[in-house]
Amino acid sequence: MKADPAVQRRLLELADVDAELARVDHRRRTLPELAEIAEAEKSVQARKDAQVANETTLGDLDREVKRQEKEIDAVRAREDRDRALMAGGTVSPKQMTDLEHELTTLQRRQTTLEDDLLELMERREAVELDGQQAAAELSKAEETLTEAANRRDQALVDLETTWARRTADRERLAPTFPAPLTELYERVRKNKGIGAALLRARRCGACRIELDRSAIARIANTAADEVVTCEECDAIMVRTPESGL
Ligand SMILES: [Zn+2]
Repeated sequence: MKADPAVQRRLLELADVDAELARVDHRRRTLPELAEIAEAEKSVQARKDAQVANETTLGDLDREVKRQEKEIDAVRAREDRDRALMAGGTVSPKQMTDLEHELTTLQRRQTTLEDDLLELMERREAVELDGQQAAAELSKAEETLTEAANRRDQALVDLETTWARRTADRERLAPTFPAPLTELYERVRKNKGIGAALLRARRCGACRIELDRSAIARIANTAADEVVTCEECDAIMVRTPESGL
């Protein structure tokens, strides 16, 4: 295949543009922020789960407190009834003794219930504090997530700008090559990643392999408008005075 040496050299510009487009694409998919965001999302979810568990525990304790309070009220009501009976003067001495016994039992029961209630309230308070701490941790985790997402978005905006600029360069350059040369370039680029590179100091700029003496001699004897490709990586090797021929 033949192509004017100046056209061949312009292939290097296209190769530079394509290399940058590939870099941008790779960077877009491997931004460190993406891993940070995944980690932060996990952290937010774990803290939301912790908050739900905390609210469930609080709800259970609230129900238990209410039940305990109701039971204490019932015991007190019974005590009041017993006291009223004793004060009414209508009970027999035997009934009086029974009522006194019952009252003692009821008071003991009330003390136990009140102690239990106090313990419940203390537990509830501790769980509530845990909940407040969990809420603070959640909002901190959400902040971290938002911050990482903002950085990702900013990085993507920058990459998008470079992408748009280089795509415009490509659209300007691509139609300036003869179709067979474009075809060869695109085929090699698709298969090997790099379509054309400078032959510099006897090395293929695409795969970096150093050409042996006979290969160099062969290339040096090839007409300047002949398109030369690398035997190792198939890339079009563009010759310039830097090629070391
Ligand atoms: Zn090569």
